[in-house]
Amino acid sequence: MTDAYTRFIRSAPGGALAKQLGLPRPSRLLRREDRPEPVLGPVVVLGASAGADQIAHQLLEEGADVRRRFEELRRVGSVIVVLDEIASPAEIGPIMLPLAGAMRTLAPGARVVTISRPAGDAEPSRAAARGGVEGFLRSLAHEMRGGGTANGVLLEDGVAVDAPGAIGALRFFLSARSAFITGQFLTVSSEAGSATENRSLPLAGRTALVTGAARGIGAAIARTLAADGAKLVVLDVPGAGTELSRLANELHAVPIQLDVTSQGAGERLVSSLREKGLALDAVVLNAGITRDKLLANMTPERWDPVLAVNISSQITLTEALIEAGDVLGEQPRVVSLASTSGIAGNRGQTNYATSKAGVIAFVDALATQLEDLGGTANAVAPGFIETEMTAKMPALTREVARRANSLQQGGLPVDVAEAIAFLCSAEAGGIRGETLRVCGQNMVGK
Ligand code: NAD
Repeated sequence: MTDAYTRFIRSAPGGALAKQLGLPRPSRLLRREDRPEPVLGPVVVLGASAGADQIAHQLLEEGADVRRRFEELRRVGSVIVVLDEIASPAEIGPIMLPLAGAMRTLAPGARVVTISRPAGDAEPSRAAARGGVEGFLRSLAHEMRGGGTANGVLLEDGVAVDAPGAIGALRFFLSARSAFITGQFLTVSSEAGSATENRSLPLAGRTALVTGAARGIGAAIARTLAADGAKLVVLDVPGAGTELSRLANELHAVPIQLDVTSQGAGERLVSSLREKGLALDAVVLNAGITRDKLLANMTPERWDPVLAVNISSQITLTEALIEAGDVLGEQPRVVSLASTSGIAGNRGQTNYATSKAGVIAFVDALATQLEDLGGTANAVAPGFIETEMTAKMPALTREVARRANSLQQGGLPVDVAEAIAFLCSAEAGGIRGETLRVCGQNMVGK
């Protein structure tokens, strides 16, 4: 789905006009079907630590074209900068600055990934160095061209560079699956999780529930999880029954018609799962609505349903699933849909932002609760995604929202789905309580 402006700009006269007037010229983002190879080579691994050697070695063993310097390379596909041991800001320059001379050699859709540690409670000099990496990466992401992205993996102290979550997050950021994610960090807080054995079907043998699956982002999530090998349970309101059955037929999925805000929805979901003999390995809480109005015009009719669907239902559903005791698989993954509005706030969205900020805090708390079960909870925060929800926005607001990110375009539902598929994978076991933005580095918030 390409918007009309982007189609025009990609035409010869449109391109010339955009150049002349300095208008945004969004690059075509390469997604998994355009670039199926897991890593775009050649890959340059920078950094002097043992961790840098380990990463270079691992990629080499997997057959990637790995170098430790830019010398003589005319084109560079990916750059990994390993800074896991830096102890002072003065150490950043010598490791990072070789990248300066190589920026113009980065291929379209290139990837830069840093591996470092969060400042946490490190001593002041080390904390400053670690914080510095985050500033560097976020600025670099604004400077990437040709649909390239720059993201970071943050390893809590004690987590090794080759922990499943570290390698998983690195692979995700290097792949075309993270096309609309840039300027972001994912923290790996433990060495939990396990390496994915079947890379082409990473969710084989797992069962996943997606709420609000009949259309938009939910349908894309269901399709992506199914393509990754998961068995699907797709849920939506009875009013969306026709679309839901169509999707269920397409994916050989189990459909459940249920309004997640209805009385006893959690218990009804549990009994449907029991009837069908299903246990969920992943629960994707995607159902969501907007009822935008300035606070001056806000009414309970606009406030209550937004809070009920977007956050309260998530609490009741997960409570029912956990309490039931027999409808969750081992090491369950919960992934919820937040929004950049929940991070930065948005005019006309006090109700929506309340619900989505609630989601961000909710997954953090739920992650602690699920730890006993070996499970995780995380959220993704989409920015502007091209769906029926955003198609309803006033045209000018929509056009501004679509361009206000480093990639100068709206994301696609599949971009959100890919992030969720990664967070549902076995590799992501050490990632918990995180909210990953899928927003092209939207200018709002951090
Ligand atoms: P959408 O309106 O296209 O689809 C939402 C789906 O949820 C629909 O199928 C709807 O029937 C279902 N749903 C609504 N209320 C329900 C209920 N009570 N019970 C069961 N199902 C219900 O929306 P979308 O754009 O695909 O958004 C999906 C999620 O992503 C939402 O949580 C939304 O807040 C979030 N999100 C979207 C964007 C975006 O740009 N589209 C940005 C940030 C976050």
